Amino acid sequence: MIKLEIKLAEEVEVEKYGEEDYDDMLNDAGDVTVGGCTFNPSDILRNCDHTAYSCGFNDFQEYETFFRCPICGEDHEDEDDATFCCQSRDIYECEFCGEIFDDEDDCIEHELDCCENPDRELDDKTMDKCRDENF
Ligand SMILES: [Zn+2]
Ligand SMILES: [Zn+2]
Repeated sequence: MIKLEIKLAEEVEVEKYGEEDYDDMLNDAGDVTVGGCTFNPSDILRNCDHTAYSCGFNDFQEYETFFRCPICGEDHEDEDDATFCCQSRDIYECEFCGEIFDDEDDCIEHELDCCENPDRELDDKTMDKCRDENF
């Protein structure tokens, strides 16, 4: 019996905001009217001082941490949820045929009369079972 290592969830950082969110925040200050023309504060900043706009956006940005399931790639807030999204807590593999079990006892029991086990007891019942499986 082989106890398999489970794959760990991958920690990923995701940007919480897009530029639209930053623009919305800037535009909360209200439109600016110059010479009869009305402008959005976000347009003014982006067009007049793009560096300041970028710096401001970076300061405004926040990151959220997620954990990604190593099997299906789905994001979870909780590391445990992600690790065990698609995996059982314990995985055992039959060392003869490679069949997977999530229960240690089931695996041991299976190995005793696994068709690939060279030491198995070759009583008639087992022989019949393995013949059925192989044909
Ligand atoms: Zn998953
Ligand atoms: Zn087996």
